[in-house]
Amino acid sequence: MARRCARPDCAEVASTTLAYEYATSTVWIGPLAEESHPMRHDLCERHADRLRVPQGWQLRDRRDVLPLPLFGRGDALAS
Ligand SMILES: [Zn+2]
Repeated sequence: MARRCARPDCAEVASTTLAYEYATSTVWIGPLAEESHPMRHDLCERHADRLRVPQGWQLRDRRDVLPLPLFGRGDALAS
């Protein structure tokens, strides 16, 4: 079943997954993760493109890079 964008009022199908890595203040965007995860958010293409990160954070767009190491590391994001 297709997952939906996490943004309110958005009915688009999610195509990317967003993850916050608190240890390095990095926001990662990658291909849609196989499983949903409480620490990750699924976004549609449009909202991923428009994403802005909090001040002091950096954004890493890895949508063109496969595989995405961070997204395969299980609990690496838990903090
Ligand atoms: Zn959206």
